[in-house]
Amino acid sequence: MSGATRLLPGSARRFLRTHGGPLGSVVAVRTEAPEFVLTYDDGPEPGGTDAILPVLEARGARATFFVLLTRVRRYPSLLKDVLEAGHEIALHGVDHRSISRMPYRKVLQRTADGKAELEDAIGRPVRWLRPPYGHQSLTSFRAVRAAGLEPVLWGPTALDSRDATTEERLTRVRSGAGRGAIVLSHDAYAEAEDGGRGGGRPHLDRGELASLVLDAYEQLGLRATTLSDALASGTPTRGLWFRR
Ligand SMILES: [Zn+2]
Repeated sequence: MSGATRLLPGSARRFLRTHGGPLGSVVAVRTEAPEFVLTYDDGPEPGGTDAILPVLEARGARATFFVLLTRVRRYPSLLKDVLEAGHEIALHGVDHRSISRMPYRKVLQRTADGKAELEDAIGRPVRWLRPPYGHQSLTSFRAVRAAGLEPVLWGPTALDSRDATTEERLTRVRSGAGRGAIVLSHDAYAEAEDGGRGGGRPHLDRGELASLVLDAYEQLGLRATTLSDALASGTPTRGLWFRR
């Protein structure tokens, strides 16, 4: 919780936690459609992104990919593959450094530059940003909004940015599963050269995990779609999300 919200009475805090108010980040979608939002972070990456794309295609699933510009510059053809397969591209960051302790001007500048560079690469507008590690301060939130992007966080996670058993991953991804849930998963691992922590690359078949995640949600009667698609008929659920 941020210092500012700690000063509010409990009822106001509960309201803000549910509705987010002007300080809310998108954490889910309120929708009547039988779908959930599948998201992938940290790519594109050979061996990850290209393992997931055929699975999504075979299952008629679509996803939103929050990409790193360090990766986009290295693997432009993979980015093109994602786009041509009908998925949505959004910004994870210029690199994988946490933005929650950076000054306002710095976050504003790098986010505006990153948005422009990504829009240039894909030839269409970018709407969403997911801050690396989910780290967000009131300052970085305001700077991202001022740069013209909407912060998007998540609900269930596939627990695939570190080593875990498949059972642990599926337990986590089922926790909080439901209509309009925004599911966090990864098509890559951010290395030190991407500004990430590096050194802890998990061992997993990302294509196989994608298939298992789709199975788990299909059992609930839910199909995977992009955030923009889900919001075409649904409305965003906003929540206060400040952590560093
Ligand atoms: Zn990330």
